[in-house]
Amino acid sequence: MMNYLRNMKKPFDVVFVSLLVLILISVVLFGCGRNEPEESVEETEQITENVTESVQEQTEQPEEPKLVCLGTYKLTAYCGCSKCCGKWGENRPVDEYGKTIVRTAGGYRAVEGVTVAADISVLPYGTKVIINDHEYTVQDRGGAINGNIIDIYFEFHQAALEFGVQYANVYVYEKIERKVETNDQM
Ligand SMILES: [Zn+2]
Repeated sequence: MMNYLRNMKKPFDVVFVSLLVLILISVVLFGCGRNEPEESVEETEQITENVTESVQEQTEQPEEPKLVCLGTYKLTAYCGCSKCCGKWGENRPVDEYGKTIVRTAGGYRAVEGVTVAADISVLPYGTKVIINDHEYTVQDRGGAINGNIIDIYFEFHQAALEFGVQYANVYVYEKIERKVETNDQM
């Protein structure tokens, strides 16, 4: 009788255990099933966070400097020769490549496409000026370069002659002056 019960208990155990396993599996599956949408929601939240972050970065990073128009300037052209520079154009030194070294009044070595002369009381040395979408730097001055005149440096006299006299809007980068709120009156 006992043997019979033992024999009977074994298949019962097997059924019980397999039922437990099934319940466990279903619990695990059910649990996963419940968690899955939550995770994906979290993921999409993270993605949208990342997207908004990258959008914020994009809007913050390429902050293009604002340009301020100074109005229309008279543009003249010069080179380093004595016709253009008078006595300053005489006996200019030569570099190791045989190129004439044109030293500007501001102490810069003149470079075509970079150097311009301006009224340094308005546009000090080092000021970037944008003329016809090209950025030049004020590195020189001249007796006749006053007010709304900019003299553009060319390496060769012929190029300066060909430039002649032109008129164009001149732009400078907006100065970002951060006003510190302090109690000046005190
Ligand atoms: Zn010249």
